[in-house]
Amino acid sequence: MIDTELIIALRNARFIAALTGAGISAESGLATFRDAQTGLWARFDPRELATPSAFARNPKLVWDWYAWRRERVAAAQPNAGHFALAELERRASDFMLITQNVDGLHQRAGGRKLVELHGNIGRVKCSREDTLVERWEAPAGEVPRCAHCGAPLRPDVVWFEEMLPEHAVAAAEDAVRRCDVLLVVGTSAEVYPAAALPAHAQRSGAIVVEINPNTTALSAAADHVLRGAAGAVLPALVAALD
Ligand code: NAD
Repeated sequence: MIDTELIIALRNARFIAALTGAGISAESGLATFRDAQTGLWARFDPRELATPSAFARNPKLVWDWYAWRRERVAAAQPNAGHFALAELERRASDFMLITQNVDGLHQRAGGRKLVELHGNIGRVKCSREDTLVERWEAPAGEVPRCAHCGAPLRPDVVWFEEMLPEHAVAAAEDAVRRCDVLLVVGTSAEVYPAAALPAHAQRSGAIVVEINPNTTALSAAADHVLRGAAGAVLPALVAALD
């Protein structure tokens, strides 16, 4: 299944980078945005809740949705795909993981060299001052407010229509420019600017490997495509390096 040319490229790589999306956490029980939501949230389109305008219109709805997702993330466990990437980080001479995920599962699997492009759902910040807030209290039925300025608090994630943190974009671009191999795992490659990173890597001479059970916007351009779930393919790839 994994061709020899790819194994040799990974063994010889000085710098391995990986770009991950919601699909790598699917096997941990966290739904991708494109999967149907269940229960309470079935009637909402998550892409319409994850915007500044949704928060301005109905902060309580957006706060509650993130509180629900935060609980699900806290109850989830990293899966074999997250652990395999952490193992690859330990083996590679140089490594960088670029994630679009906000769930922190890479870190919980032991990943250390990583950049979070879209923030982290575990953190909360003031919606006006952008400062991180460690503790908050909310009167029943209300969105908690910043103790300093009184603005509503919000999750420290990047919403659709918002800019990504500059330092994160710079670190991701540096990694794709310098890497020899870029693994692209569990992303539809449709959300920009992350979706532009594989082409950037190829222009800089890297081999791009897609790991995904489904065809994506990247599939035709990828140098290698490994069709399958991250939790099966990534451990097999790491084992093949022995
Ligand atoms: P996406 O929902 O657009 O695409 C998910 C991709 O994962 C699809 O291509 C699908 O085929 C693939 N996939 C499904 N199961 C897989 C598996 N077991 N192994 C490998 N691939 C699998 O996700 P995206 O490209 O990350 O973009 C959506 C946006 O939503 C991102 O900005 C992301 O931050 C956010 N999001 C994050 C989380 C999370 O942190 N866990 C969850 C939902 C959405």
